[in-house]
Amino acid sequence: MDTLLVKNADIMVTMDDQRREVRNGGLFIRGGFIEQVGATKDLPAEAEVVLDLSDHILLPGLINTHHHFYQTLTRVIPDAQDVGLFNWLKTLYPIWARMKPEHIRISTKTALSELALSGCTTASDHLYLFPNGSRLDDEIEAAKEIGLRLHALRGSMSLGESQGGLPPDSVVEDEDYILKDSQRLIETYHDSRPGAMTQVALAPCSPFSVTGDLMKSSVELARAYGVRLHTHLAETKDEEIFCLEKFGHRPVAYMETLGWVGPQVWFAHSVHVIPSEIDLYARTGCGVAHCPTSNMRLASGIAPVMAMLKAGVNVGVGVDGSASNDGSHLMEEVRQAMLISRLGEGVRLASMPQGGSNGLMTARQALEIATQGGAAVLGRDDIGSLQVGKCADFVAINLNRLEYAGALHDPVAAVVFCAPVRVDFNVVGGKFVVKGGKLATVDHPSLVNEHNLWARKLLED
Ligand SMILES: [Zn+2]
Repeated sequence: MDTLLVKNADIMVTMDDQRREVRNGGLFIRGGFIEQVGATKDLPAEAEVVLDLSDHILLPGLINTHHHFYQTLTRVIPDAQDVGLFNWLKTLYPIWARMKPEHIRISTKTALSELALSGCTTASDHLYLFPNGSRLDDEIEAAKEIGLRLHALRGSMSLGESQGGLPPDSVVEDEDYILKDSQRLIETYHDSRPGAMTQVALAPCSPFSVTGDLMKSSVELARAYGVRLHTHLAETKDEEIFCLEKFGHRPVAYMETLGWVGPQVWFAHSVHVIPSEIDLYARTGCGVAHCPTSNMRLASGIAPVMAMLKAGVNVGVGVDGSASNDGSHLMEEVRQAMLISRLGEGVRLASMPQGGSNGLMTARQALEIATQGGAAVLGRDDIGSLQVGKCADFVAINLNRLEYAGALHDPVAAVVFCAPVRVDFNVVGGKFVVKGGKLATVDHPSLVNEHNLWARKLLED
């Protein structure tokens, strides 16, 4: 299909520079890119495929900036349900160490399916364990079957327990091999062109699981190839204490000593950052993947997102791994971002803050960070909004549903404030990934059966 006409959307949220919301709006798409955006009456009357979105809200596809797909196999593990980050990790590392390539493939499809149904069109995934012959290639190939854009992050761990790190020695890799494999993956899969379906970035896991040397060599390699850099940073107080004791620096200052700041870097979490660190992010262009559910689940804290936005930091939303969420519903994450930010402001001000100047995050701001914000964090100017020349990545939700009953005076706010739902349509590069509320690229029931089988095997092995 070369041309697609999307018409009659009850309301279309463009996220363009004027943040236009167009009544009875639509798009004309050719070759996977948006050729026209506006009121239905101003668009061509015909196309090879026509999608009538009467009664629907039309939104730019949401962008997930942090995830660990493989963790969909280890949701709600009893011993990891009620602990903080370090004990949660120590409980799960030995289970994850049993994964095989099949686990990577099936969990990729499951996570991406769940993301697609929740409104996501581009997902970033941080894979940092490669046991039993698993490779990032397994994830990249499986993702192609679902049809979402993928930013596959070559994660790594090299600082095992015997060297003072957190992970057991059995799950860390040799540093020379990590760098060689990273180079191979960039050369094989990274596509920097507009409309890219696959990009690769380098993502040493965290200050407590990787050596400073590997952090430095990863920066050099990423700069040489023009790819991005990602890691977990300032997630918990445990990590702050670890960095102060081991490196004599707070986490952000430690990363600065390793050359890990700049516009090609984005950090997951950044819960425990002080004003001077937020200023450093803004000044140097570091982005942040905000993962509110995970931060609540692990009792990590509340990231100061409004302060980051005020300072000009690029912030996106991420669901984080499914062992600390335990879902991949991106619209739910947008809602959580708005709610936890408000809670944070209330606690900070120790009073009853009101809207507007007191800085309560609005529903539209939450949608903005999940679209435009996510695109900026991933370094992409071809996604994140419905504008001429951008990728035809959009989602649509039927507004006539129980969850939105009584909320249609503001349908844009309704999708964030009301209970999160599944989208009815999800289109990536002009191709349907979800159609009429159903996954178009994969058989949903057999996927769930297969996934449960592999999850069971992982615990029994
Ligand atoms: Zn994470």
